[in-house]
Amino acid sequence: MTCILGLSGGIGSGKSTVTRILTELGATTIDADAIVHEEQAAGKPMLKEIAAAFGDQVIRADGSLDREALGALVFRDEDARARLGQIVHPPVIAEMMRRAKAAVDANDRLVVLDIPLLFEGRVSGRGSGAIMDFDETLCIWVSREVQIERTMSRDDCEAAEAERRVAAQLPIDEKREMADHVIDNSGTLEDTRTQVVALFERLTNSAAH
Ligand code: ATP
Repeated sequence: MTCILGLSGGIGSGKSTVTRILTELGATTIDADAIVHEEQAAGKPMLKEIAAAFGDQVIRADGSLDREALGALVFRDEDARARLGQIVHPPVIAEMMRRAKAAVDANDRLVVLDIPLLFEGRVSGRGSGAIMDFDETLCIWVSREVQIERTMSRDDCEAAEAERRVAAQLPIDEKREMADHVIDNSGTLEDTRTQVVALFERLTNSAAH
């Protein structure tokens, strides 16, 4: 039996770090952001739809998406953000589900779907009729203060900018409450790895029965 795990957290909380460890341990990982980027490559239908909805000012001279221009357009406009979601989400979800199904058909033990806004969306257990079905969900948690620190040092931005980005998401403590499992990534990478190995063992052992 395959276990389908939905993985999320907050900005800079360590989603990519934990996903990388799970990949090393043998999980099949599916990265929502990577699929968004693939679907928005120059010449793809999604990019044409985005240009039709938001104008040619979001397309660069080389035909690629101007993410900054699009981000600035949708940042303060909820309707525009909803319109963008209607264009982006269905094909990305369909592609994630296609890959997850292929992994289930191949009898992979653990499939990890790394989805930044998983807890902001409508998600819950398998068979619930939510947009995506998972057997289990995982929150990669650090305190809000650590989130801000790591975002600042990784993106080389000011505290105010990091705070603004963190504040735009559901508070990480609420996500922690919603998840079936939590990895506390506040400590060293070695501490995190130990927790991830234990979780991997649990999920793959219970999936084996
Ligand atoms: P985002 O969604 O913002 O892209 P993320 O949740 O995927 O972020 P990562 O990119 O994994 O987070 O981690 C954020 C930053 O914190 C990175 O620079 C990473 O190297 C660093 N980091 C992650 N875990 C730890 C840790 N336990 N100790 C120190 N630094 C860490």
